[in-house]
Amino acid sequence: MSLRAYRASLLWFEPGAHYEEDGLLVVGPNAKGVQVVQAIGSWRSLSPSYCRQPIEHLPGRLIAPGFVDMHVHFPQTNVMGSPAAGLLPWLENYTFPEEQRFESQAYSEEAAGFFLDELLRNGVTTALAFATSHTTSVNALFSQAQARHLRLITGLCLMDRHAPQALLNQPGRTTNAAEQSLIESEALITRWHGKDRLGYAITPRFAPTSTDEQLQAAGELAARYPQTWIQSHVSENKDEIAWARELFPQSKSYLATYADFGLMRERAVYAHCIHFDDDDRALMRETGAVAAISPTSNLFLGSGFFDYAGADRVGFGYGLASDVGGGTSFSPFHTMLAAYYVGREGQSKTGLSLSPQHLWWQHTAGAARALGLEGVVGNLLPGCEADFVVINPKATPLLARKTALAGSLDELLFSMIVLGDDRLIERVVIAHPPTVQSDTTPGAPLS
Ligand SMILES: [Zn+2]
Repeated sequence: MSLRAYRASLLWFEPGAHYEEDGLLVVGPNAKGVQVVQAIGSWRSLSPSYCRQPIEHLPGRLIAPGFVDMHVHFPQTNVMGSPAAGLLPWLENYTFPEEQRFESQAYSEEAAGFFLDELLRNGVTTALAFATSHTTSVNALFSQAQARHLRLITGLCLMDRHAPQALLNQPGRTTNAAEQSLIESEALITRWHGKDRLGYAITPRFAPTSTDEQLQAAGELAARYPQTWIQSHVSENKDEIAWARELFPQSKSYLATYADFGLMRERAVYAHCIHFDDDDRALMRETGAVAAISPTSNLFLGSGFFDYAGADRVGFGYGLASDVGGGTSFSPFHTMLAAYYVGREGQSKTGLSLSPQHLWWQHTAGAARALGLEGVVGNLLPGCEADFVVINPKATPLLARKTALAGSLDELLFSMIVLGDDRLIERVVIAHPPTVQSDTTPGAPLS
């Protein structure tokens, strides 16, 4: 078995943050040929066992799990930083017109490639992403992710009302739009779910843009394919909630609408989850659905503050997300800092100071756990897929000055959260399948 070893400072979660100043990370293929972590620990304890392996020494560098973005819209890269008075005008004036362009395969392919490269440049190695209502956009994102060997989850956006005609799911020759959108979703599941590192998410945009018939069919599809994900939005702002309550008056709350259509279960991920009461929180906990907290987006659009204390008191799962293009950055450092602001602002009079280790966990191991991918990504425990980032804590003069003063792990991590951005990410390593030997490459001459 060919192993690769890296000597550097190391950060992982067990489940609390664990830091090794002088550590050794050993990766190698598992039975399926995916590169996984074989060993992690201090240089002193592990080096005798691995001294025959080639070891890459990275002095002054920190190796940490690749970041996990629980909610991001790949077709909204061009929508970032668009001025609008709140969510609904922002959707109408910028987002919907841009998303219409993804009917084109060429446009989708280029945008998907740029999007994934931008995620990687920022250290994000796993994402649960929205596409548009065009199958072209879904196929483009899956194929570009596959070419980069990434773990990525996406799905066809379901919306059969209350949006511009060109963005709605289209009827087939003998089917209405709701039926056709579910036929297309199922075909995409068959084509992509479980292939390499890809996963499918059944994706109603949000309840107001789907008919009862479409939500019902989406819930039935989710029951038939329990290993797929579900992704949508809920309780982002008050206008949206009032609208959802008008459209679905029979449900107990906006969130409960999704439960009523069979769309709350393990692997169901709801972005925002801001304006919840304890009944909503209990419904999240009981169904196993989780929240994708999107703090830069919530601050940008003035939507409100996720209630961390409420979530922890009742006990439902969550993790962090960029929500680009409502979100203002692909950088996990910006997202973690915004989550810290949300904790300070959104709680009782005294505010809450989320610890740096907890913020980091929310964007790595915590996000992976929320997605049902604990032990797969977002961590560096043995067996985890070897997606990791090499961080240079001295990437800028100010970071070099500040991180040199750090006397604890919290101080080191918080310096990077507050002062950091993509410049911290020196390198990203993805768990590739094993290198094919040249003599077995198709077409190569056999000697
Ligand atoms: Zn979103």
